[in-house]
Amino acid sequence: MAKTFSVLEKNILKAKGLTEAQVKKLSKAGIAGRDDFKTVGDAATLTQLVSGLDTAVASAVLAWARGEGTTDVGGLGRVVVESSDSVYCVHCKTKQPKDYSSGDLCVSCGKQAEPILSCFWCASSGPGRFCRQCGAEFIATSELDLGIHLKREGLPKDDIPKKLKAMGAAEKDVLWGRIRKSRG
Ligand SMILES: [Zn+2]
Ligand SMILES: [Zn+2]
Repeated sequence: MAKTFSVLEKNILKAKGLTEAQVKKLSKAGIAGRDDFKTVGDAATLTQLVSGLDTAVASAVLAWARGEGTTDVGGLGRVVVESSDSVYCVHCKTKQPKDYSSGDLCVSCGKQAEPILSCFWCASSGPGRFCRQCGAEFIATSELDLGIHLKREGLPKDDIPKKLKAMGAAEKDVLWGRIRKSRG
C-alpha cells in the first residue's frame, strides 16, 4: 500500500461526517486519496462503495475532492461556494458534467436538471439561466411579477434582473404594493 489518506485528509473526511469505520471502508474500496474521489464521480456511487454512508455526506466529500470547498460565513452556517458556471440538478443536487447544456437531463437521476422558468420579458419559458427567445436573464419564479412590472415601467431588459438582485426585501415590498394597486 503505497498510497493512503494523510492525517489531514482523514480529519477533513471526518469533518465532512464520515466515521472512522467509513474512512477505513474507503481504503478497502481502493479510495486512498483525494484524486480517487474524482474517479468515483458521483454521490450515488460513493454510497454504494461505502455502506451506511449518507448521500449528503457523500456529496460533501465529493465537493471537497473537486475543490469546491464550503466556507463558514460568520458562523451562520455553511455556504457552498460554487463556480459560476456549475449546474446542479434541482432534484438530486448532482453536479452536471462540463459539457452539460441547458435542457439536458440529469446524469444521475435522469430528470430535467434545471427548473423550467418563465421569461419576464417575452413570456416564453425554458431551462437554463437565460431565455432562449429573447436572451433575458431568468429571474426567480416568485419574482416574475416584479420583473413584468419593471418592464412595464420601462426598465431595459438587462437591467431588470440586476435591479431585482440589488433590491432589498423592503424595496420589493414597496414594489409589490404598487403592483397590487395597479391591478386595483
Ligand atoms: Zn438529478
Ligand atoms: Zn424571453
